[in-house]
Amino acid sequence: MSKTLFERIIDREIEADIVWENERIIAFNDISPQAPTHILIVPKKVISSLNELEEEDRDLIGEMFIVAKNIAEEKGISENGYRTIFNTNDYGGQTVYHLHLHLIGGRKMTWPPG
Ligand code: 5GP
Repeated sequence: MSKTLFERIIDREIEADIVWENERIIAFNDISPQAPTHILIVPKKVISSLNELEEEDRDLIGEMFIVAKNIAEEKGISENGYRTIFNTNDYGGQTVYHLHLHLIGGRKMTWPPG
């Protein structure tokens, strides 16, 4: 099976601006940032979307949010606030089918989203 785009980033086949990494998770700047801070937090385990999440992924998802919180602190956006988003499938606006959490901040967001 061919690799996902984000697996190719994990394997250093495609360049990315990596901001944090451990054995389970990688975080890098989005190539098309929608705000001054726009970071993707990606599990190294390939999970296509939130729809494919399994019970055994409980800790992994929790860790992704801890990573988001820590990076938000490091980037100085915690106090003003930020968004964490999973886009799922077509109606959710998902374009890359390798689970990722968007961490978006550094400007005031509007609601509802488009
Ligand atoms: P989705 O639309 O699936 O929720 O989010 C995919 C995100 O991946 C988009 O925000 C898009 O800008 C980003 N993206 C797509 N290709 C690349 C790439 O090659 N490198 C990086 N760093 N981000 C990418």
